[in-house]
Amino acid sequence: MVHSELSTASQDYLKVIWTAQEWTDEPLTVSALSMHMGFSPSSVSEAVKKLTGQGLLTHARYGSIALTEAGELAAVGMVRRHRLIETFLVEYLGYRWDEVHDEAEHLEHAVSDKMVDALAARLGHPVRDPHGDPIPARDGSYPALDAKRLSRCEPGTRGQVARVSDNEPDLLRYIAGLGLHLDTMVSVVQRQPYAGTITIEAGGRTLDLGLPAAEAIWILTAADTAAPPAL
Ligand SMILES: [Zn+2]
Repeated sequence: MVHSELSTASQDYLKVIWTAQEWTDEPLTVSALSMHMGFSPSSVSEAVKKLTGQGLLTHARYGSIALTEAGELAAVGMVRRHRLIETFLVEYLGYRWDEVHDEAEHLEHAVSDKMVDALAARLGHPVRDPHGDPIPARDGSYPALDAKRLSRCEPGTRGQVARVSDNEPDLLRYIAGLGLHLDTMVSVVQRQPYAGTITIEAGGRTLDLGLPAAEAIWILTAADTAAPPAL
């Protein structure tokens, strides 16, 4: 099913379902999806039924929601649009990384497939967006990112910031304000699990990060980088 045949709402559902499962293996239920979408469980349940009828989702009764092959293809296409637009806004229009998500939410439905391809070409076919999220290629493939959450790294771990969750603009501003950006080298000094903080070293400074910030930052360690690139 091509982009233009889906309603804006359906496009949003497919993209949210795909991204909700991008960084976790936890099964996605109607109630989890309603939290992601900010809609009531009954309207989410209605939409899931409709998308299941269109052959885009499977939904075990009272169980988890999954994309079919056709649903996955449509979802990845939306993710590609979203992330290319975010990249364009930062690279060409001078947006900060905390400003692009909402703008891309609107534009991703408006631009044509032709414009998406033109954007990709002009940007030099980027493989990651301003938050480090992998940008799927036109054929639906996307680079694997073997990063782990900073909050789960043991003391002594050293690696580069590979991804920062773009869920909360405030958190992105906070993280940038600490001098942490994509590719910043970070070392974990100490964890204080009961205080909910982690001490890191970055750019010659020692920083105490709260868990919400450490959860949002993903690190690629030297060991991960040394592995042959997964294509
Ligand atoms: Zn992003």
